[in-house]
Amino acid sequence: MSHFETDAIRIQQRSNQREHSSALYLSSSFVFESAEEARAMFAEEIQGNIYSRYSNPNSSDLIDKVCRAEGTEDGIATASGMAAMFGSIASLLQQGDHILASRSLFGSTHQLLTRVFPKWGITSTYGDISDYQNWDKLLQPNTKMLFLETPSNPGLEIIDLEWAGKFAAAHGLILVVDNCFATPYLQQPAHWGAHLVTHSATKYIDGQGRVLGGLILGKKELIDEVRFFTRHTGPSLSPFNAWILSKSMETLAVRMDRHCENAEKVARYFEGCPHLDRVSYPFLPSHQQHDLAIKQMKAGGGILTLTVKGGLQRAQRFIDKLQMISITPNLGDSRSIVTHPASTTHSKLSAEERQKVGITDGLIRLSVGLEHYEDILQDVERSLEQSK
Ligand SMILES: *Cc1c(COP(=O)(O)O)cnc(C)c1O
Repeated sequence: MSHFETDAIRIQQRSNQREHSSALYLSSSFVFESAEEARAMFAEEIQGNIYSRYSNPNSSDLIDKVCRAEGTEDGIATASGMAAMFGSIASLLQQGDHILASRSLFGSTHQLLTRVFPKWGITSTYGDISDYQNWDKLLQPNTKMLFLETPSNPGLEIIDLEWAGKFAAAHGLILVVDNCFATPYLQQPAHWGAHLVTHSATKYIDGQGRVLGGLILGKKELIDEVRFFTRHTGPSLSPFNAWILSKSMETLAVRMDRHCENAEKVARYFEGCPHLDRVSYPFLPSHQQHDLAIKQMKAGGGILTLTVKGGLQRAQRFIDKLQMISITPNLGDSRSIVTHPASTTHSKLSAEERQKVGITDGLIRLSVGLEHYEDILQDVERSLEQSK
């Protein structure tokens, strides 16, 4: 099959039990027919499920679908997005290696690079994406990886994936792209030369705020190296969560269409609103990298940011006045969600670090859900009025 929507629905590992919906395999291990078969499977002479820490039919189901969607050969499903970020770096780098990363990153990824990996002698430098031309000056003789997030969380910065693919190739770097915000439906980094694509499947892939999950996808050769690491360190996705996420893939395309449509309507409606300093959304012409967003994304995504006038206190008053939209740190849910990054997801960054990536005290991240857009508009508008 060839279309995204069809593959996401029809690719399915089948048992011989004739079930229509995928079965759930709650089994920690799998039975061998003989001592010889056990030997051959461990020796990887024949493929098959051995133990659910290594593989399980439900995680294989999910991986098959997401690989088809991303245009990658192989993948690994992990227990959370952070397990995927950690695994993709820890499996491929070693003491003394250096990472060049885009400055605007998910809060925990930032902590990984600045506080966790340095303990093992893996260091990082951040590049400002408005200054690409000078990134070769940030390279060190030991730079091995280019780690990017686009659109970034929560700054919604867009990085030119075509440029990134060429830059990584020219300097022999492993290019890793966290594709959580765009999902494979809106953008496929492997097409532009990313060696690994990572996901927090917790977000849009689940899409209903139920389970955690992560994915590491790429060429088979590289994934085999990552697999060695995950197989022996154990961040495996549970079969139940894999089953949920595989089912969710079936509706990703229609959900994303509506998330994007709603988000764009909300962004357009509030642009120029007197209570706001700024509305940022990749598909608004006022977005700094609008042309780039149009070039590499099918639509603008489901996230926008609003910068309220009046800083922290106004931002908090606004959030407290909301009646429908939930206050919770998740995103990509069918329910609209607000987050105040400076005091929550990015509070561990220093004020100076937040400043550099544009996380001001008035910045509010809005993950636009699948409710009717007029109800979302109304909740935001009334709360802006009441928070004056
Ligand atoms: C949420 C998120 C992660 C981490 O994923 P978890 O599933 O919460 O561990 C990583 N990157 C981005 C961009 C995210 O939004």
